[in-house]
Amino acid sequence: MLQLKFDNRFIGDLPGDETGNMQSRHTPGVCWAAVNPTPVARPRLLAYSSEVSQLLNLTDQDVHSDDFLAAFCGNRLLPGMRSYATCYGGHQFGNWAGQLGDGRAIALGEAINKNGERWELQLKGAGMTPYSRRADGRAVLRSSLREFLCSEAMHHLGIPTTRALSLIATGETVMRDMFYDGNPALEPGAIVCRVAPSFIRFGNFEILASRGERELLQNLLDLTIARDFPQIGGPNRVADWFRLVCERTAKLVVEWLRVGFVHGVMNTDNMSILGLTIDYGPYGWMDNFDPGWTPNTTDEDWRRYTLAKQTSVARWNLERLADALETVAPSRSILGEGLAHFDTTLQANLSAMLTAKFGLLQLKDEDAGLIEEVFELMHRAQVDMTEFFRALADIRQQSPALSALRSAFYQDALYQDHSELFEAWLARYVARLALQQDTDEARRHRMNLVNPRFVLRNYLAQQAIDAAMNDDLSLIDRLMQAARHPYDEDIPADLTAKRPDWAINKPGCSMLSCSS
Ligand code: AMP
Ligand code: MG
Repeated sequence: MLQLKFDNRFIGDLPGDETGNMQSRHTPGVCWAAVNPTPVARPRLLAYSSEVSQLLNLTDQDVHSDDFLAAFCGNRLLPGMRSYATCYGGHQFGNWAGQLGDGRAIALGEAINKNGERWELQLKGAGMTPYSRRADGRAVLRSSLREFLCSEAMHHLGIPTTRALSLIATGETVMRDMFYDGNPALEPGAIVCRVAPSFIRFGNFEILASRGERELLQNLLDLTIARDFPQIGGPNRVADWFRLVCERTAKLVVEWLRVGFVHGVMNTDNMSILGLTIDYGPYGWMDNFDPGWTPNTTDEDWRRYTLAKQTSVARWNLERLADALETVAPSRSILGEGLAHFDTTLQANLSAMLTAKFGLLQLKDEDAGLIEEVFELMHRAQVDMTEFFRALADIRQQSPALSALRSAFYQDALYQDHSELFEAWLARYVARLALQQDTDEARRHRMNLVNPRFVLRNYLAQQAIDAAMNDDLSLIDRLMQAARHPYDEDIPADLTAKRPDWAINKPGCSMLSCSS
């Protein structure tokens, strides 16, 4: 029998609805509802993260046991597990959407590992809950695979994220209209077990505030600080805590910009109170640099959640959290101070991130122009972001050759058309490099620590999905291997190749809907 130790504080400290009523409904007065996962027919383990299983002190043998499969597909709870769905609300695409809640996520409890670390386990796609509204509580293989791979890739890039323990095929089908165009089809279902110290979202606070449930809001705040921010205490605890939430959120979005990640659905219900990347849906990685790009077709017209807007949206979301906290904060001004701290942190971290990306040792005022100019050029000439920064690291100060950057261009014609401008820029860049005490080798080394060689390009994830649909799991394995050391040089060429032409307009590669 698998041995996991649980200490389920969320349900222990906060009131819940324990009636077991599964009807879709509003649940005022509680923070969660007890639900059982719905069993699945023929579960099969498709992939797992050995790093995450180790966090839970599970051996590879444990992972391949019947107990594991039964527990993490939702067929049978392990001793100590308690399953429940949490109640949250959210601002979706700028509008208050009311109660949302875990419509297809079911928590299994908070596991405590041998180091005393708390890891909450959560199944995504394990069946209906009172928050499922008119949906089915399930998830399809394609989106589950994307979440599984990206969680782990993000972690190894050094970016805060929820983790993924396992990916299990349910052996059942799920009906989805992938492009909301009236063509529903049956697709294979899957369940990911997500793992994080806490899955509390901004929306967990918002729903209580919107209902005027002040006491409950206070309880949730107390639990969050005590459980998830144990370093915070004393008379200014709420101010210190909110300031830290703002700081972590600022740092997170700067990290996304560093690697060219677009979350795609930064609704407040998808914002982690711990500043983790959470809820991998129609996310995407930047191929040709375009700050106005979003992979989410649902956001095509409004373009609210593009790469560049992620910083201002993060602040807007924090403002909504601040609104929700008004009645439990000692004053509105401490919330304002937290938001101001977001602005300062954002600026400082943006500067530091860009300084490092370009291999500079210090940012001078004049550098802003240099950096802005090349981003503008990259946009116009459709230069691949990941490839560009790795190639830039190889530029030799004594003999800067534009040909060294050729590999980052998608189109010959655009390369030719912009070569003079890029050459002029390169000349400015090496002139700037000459102002610092540095060597090509040292700069290259530093740059390659912050500019990944491997990112989970959209077309790669899609290829892994296509193969998995044909029972070929080898690409999942290879992508996981590469994802473990994304800054290394020796990654198989086919996993670092720029987006191929066939992927430009292929669904899943450049366009993703929220359907999952
Ligand atoms: P998302 O767009 O994934 O962040 O989800 C927004 C809301 O819709 C959340 O409350 C989800 O739990 C819910 N939801 C999304 N898909 C499903 C589904 N298939 N079944 C039940 N609820 C869902
Ligand atoms: Mg969500």
